[in-house]
Amino acid sequence: MKRDFSFEIVSDVCSQHPLMRAGIIRTPHGDIRTPNFNVVGTHGEVKFLPPSDMRNIGAQVMLSNGYHLLRRATVISASGGLAKWSGWDGPTFTDSGGFQVMSLGSGLGKVISMDVADANDESKLREPDERLARVDDEGVLFRDPYSSRIIKFTPELSIEVQHKIGADVMMSFDELTNISDTYDYNVRALERTRRWAIRGLREHIRQTELRRNRPYQALYGVLQGGYYLDLRAKAAKDISSMTVDGEGFDGFGLGGVLTKQDLPSILTTMCEILPNDKPRHLLGLSHPDDIFVGVETGSDTFDCVAPTREARHGRIYTMDGNFNLKKSEFKDDERVLDDECDCPTCQAGHSRAELRALLKSGDLSDHAKAYNLLTIHNVRFIVRLCEQIRQAIIDGYYDEYKRNFCYRYYRR
Ligand SMILES: [Zn+2]
Repeated sequence: MKRDFSFEIVSDVCSQHPLMRAGIIRTPHGDIRTPNFNVVGTHGEVKFLPPSDMRNIGAQVMLSNGYHLLRRATVISASGGLAKWSGWDGPTFTDSGGFQVMSLGSGLGKVISMDVADANDESKLREPDERLARVDDEGVLFRDPYSSRIIKFTPELSIEVQHKIGADVMMSFDELTNISDTYDYNVRALERTRRWAIRGLREHIRQTELRRNRPYQALYGVLQGGYYLDLRAKAAKDISSMTVDGEGFDGFGLGGVLTKQDLPSILTTMCEILPNDKPRHLLGLSHPDDIFVGVETGSDTFDCVAPTREARHGRIYTMDGNFNLKKSEFKDDERVLDDECDCPTCQAGHSRAELRALLKSGDLSDHAKAYNLLTIHNVRFIVRLCEQIRQAIIDGYYDEYKRNFCYRYYRR
């Protein structure tokens, strides 16, 4: 199988953090210098951040969602893949869609436990008060909120859809467990995720063969196991040693609902077992303290909706922590959002008072303008944080950089 995908470690010498590294992921749509924050464009576009703005602020990757693009996958494939269809011609990732499918029952992004005997009973899905999604060994049965049809989302379907979308990096289909799920349930869910990973890998090889004229798409195996370290270690061993016809995963996705308290030990346990020469993506975390923990324990890329979503809510990131721009104290504040920021919004001199007025205006075009300007700022903040972390790793002053950053950011 031709693999137009590779990972090179540029610097990994740090006695304090033996798992930490700076690297380059090479994809058919360009190189990704790591550590890197992947900007989330769920539906194939980043809300209020067009590709030209993405480039202007140094963003390297857009991450979209396999489930949300399910209905458009054929159109995207016909147009030549996500890069051509979206106008973002740099590297792209898709996630498997498993998280969205399994979250449908709760409505608030909270994952529901599937520890039920009648998991495959379609009739239960027709009850108005019943959950909208159920997991069994075959896949996830759910009612699609767009069409109201009941769909079986399987590892094979997830991989087929992700191949059609054509992102440079795809994720294997996994079962995400809830923080309240028991150890026994996590054991069963992890075994299911392991079997789904084999089925996904097999389908990936088949799809790669069928679509030989397309650029190679890498597949990451996703690790789960809740907050149980023995299960996390098992997941790392199982997924990293898994092969079908001699082919294994190109990298790894580190998944799960993780608390800040458990994060360091869970990530360390997995990354100590995973092979060094393949990239690792930490799914769904982007607050600076999470990025520092991720980097120190061996993660290379990150993604999260927070920087874009919080920007639209007026939650602004600065070197001295974040603040809520909607507060009245910024009504006459003529300062830029962060005077140390190099983003186009701050460089053009837009004041907090001006941006607050746009955000609170009843006019839709004012809103759109505020969303764009604030999204540019927040995403640049996280992109720049990753750029600076990378430089600090390469030049050997990571701990000093982190200490200075955290002292100011978390001081209040
Ligand atoms: Zn800025």
